[in-house]
Amino acid sequence: MLRGSCHCGAVTFELVRPPEWRNECNCSICRRLGTLWGYYREEEVTFTSGADATETYVWGDRSLAFHRCRTCGCTTYWRRLGSTPESRMGVNTRLLEPEDVAGIRIRHFDGADSFRYLD
Ligand SMILES: [Zn+2]
Repeated sequence: MLRGSCHCGAVTFELVRPPEWRNECNCSICRRLGTLWGYYREEEVTFTSGADATETYVWGDRSLAFHRCRTCGCTTYWRRLGSTPESRMGVNTRLLEPEDVAGIRIRHFDGADSFRYLD
């Protein structure tokens, strides 16, 4: 079980497992947010506080909602919008304890152009 929280502590969560990798994406939003994404099914993520303490940013084709803490502004996760069968969500693994993710591989995704991993 891994625990994460935003800076002010309003949003806290638990993950059932470490991320398989941490993804640094260079798309227009991720490069600005500075996030390192870990991918989970919704049922693998439990919000222990602050499930309602986030606000969202949605743009473009409106397929994803990026959540951030309303108080401290930390990007917490993204979720899909609409009725998609896939329950995958992206969790910002920068909110986990550094020692818990120290050895986990960081991959680079070319979300700006080819939409492929660069490794
Ligand atoms: Zn916060």
